[in-house]
Amino acid sequence: MPNSPLPLVSSASTVLPTPSFDTALAVHEQEPLTAKSVTTLQVNLGKVCNQTCHHCHVDAGPQRTESMTKATIDQILEVLDRTPQIATVDITGGAPEMNPHFEYLVQECRIRDRQVIDRCNLTVFYVKGKSHLPEFLAKHGVEIIASLPCYQEINVDQQRGQGVFNRSISALQTLNTLGYGEIDTDLNLHLVYNPQGVTLPPPQEELEQDYKEELMRRHGIQFNRLLTITNMPISRFSEDLQEAGQLDAYYTLLQENFNRATVEDLMCRSLINVGWDGRLSDCDFNQMLDLPLQIRAPQWIKDFTLPSLEHRPIVTGSHCFGCTAGAGSSCGGTLT
Ligand code: SF4
Ligand code: SF4
Repeated sequence: MPNSPLPLVSSASTVLPTPSFDTALAVHEQEPLTAKSVTTLQVNLGKVCNQTCHHCHVDAGPQRTESMTKATIDQILEVLDRTPQIATVDITGGAPEMNPHFEYLVQECRIRDRQVIDRCNLTVFYVKGKSHLPEFLAKHGVEIIASLPCYQEINVDQQRGQGVFNRSISALQTLNTLGYGEIDTDLNLHLVYNPQGVTLPPPQEELEQDYKEELMRRHGIQFNRLLTITNMPISRFSEDLQEAGQLDAYYTLLQENFNRATVEDLMCRSLINVGWDGRLSDCDFNQMLDLPLQIRAPQWIKDFTLPSLEHRPIVTGSHCFGCTAGAGSSCGGTLT
C-alpha cells in the first residue's frame, strides 16, 4: 500500500500523511466512494463535555464552549418534517446532554416517530442538574450507546479519567433498573470498546461475550451489544501517538489491514453529520478535520435536500483507513 512520507497539516492542526485512501479504493476497484442515501442524521450538539478522554476525536472537554443553538435544532426538525427517509437521529458531542436543548431535540424527534440514539458517556448523569436523565431517556425510548473501553477499572480510568469506571458502573446499574439492556424490552443499551495504542480492536463477538460474563459476574450488569470501534488517528489520539513516536506505525497498521469488504457499508454512505454550527459533513471525523461536503452539495442543514445529497461523492482522507481496517469500524461497531 502506498504511504508517502510527506506530511500534510490539516486545518484541525492534526498531522496527516499524504492521503492515499483513494488509491487503495482504486486498487480494489471501489472508487469513487459515493453515498447511497441518507437514512441517519448524526447530530453533533457541541464540544462541551464533563470528561477529557485521551482518545477523544473531537477534542471535547469542560472548557469548550461550542454548542448547537435552538435555531439550528429547529432547522434539523424542519428537515425531518420534509424527509421521511431519515429514520434515525444519532445524537453525539462532546457530551450531548450538556447542550441545554438536548431534551427538546429528543422529544421533538420522538414526536416525529424517529429512532433516537444518545451517545452517552454515562458520567454525565452525575453532573449537577442531570440526575433525571436516565428516567428521561427511558421515558422517551432512547437507545443508549455508552463508552466503556474495558471491564477493568484501571484501564477505563487510564483512558477516560480518574473515577470514571466506578461512576460508569453505577450509571449502568441505574439504567438496568429502568429496563435498559434487558432482552425483552425496547430499551437498547449498547457499550463501546476502543482499543488503546497501536492496535486494532479484537473480534467483536468474542469480546462481547467476555464483557457480558465479566460485567454480570462482577457488577450484575446486562447490556445488549458491544460495539468495537477503531480509534481514529485524528485530534487528541493522533497527538498522543505523535508524542509517543507511533503515528506512522498506526497509519501503517491501518493501511496494511485495508479490507475491501468494509467499503459497501461505510457509515458515510448512509448518513450525514450535522456539526454544532449547522454545517454538514460526510461523518463526525470529517467534521472534526474541517472537511466539508463536496463542493456541489449543500453545506448547511438549512439547505438540506435529499436529492442533492443522495449519491454524492464522499470526501476522503488518510483517516478513512480507520474505517476500513480489519473488520471495519463505524459508529455502529464492526462492518463485516
Ligand atoms: S471521548 Fe466522549 S466522553 Fe471522552 S472527552 Fe470525548 S466526548 Fe467526552
Ligand atoms: S472517515 Fe468518514 S468519510 Fe472516511 S470512510 Fe470513515 S465514515 Fe467515510
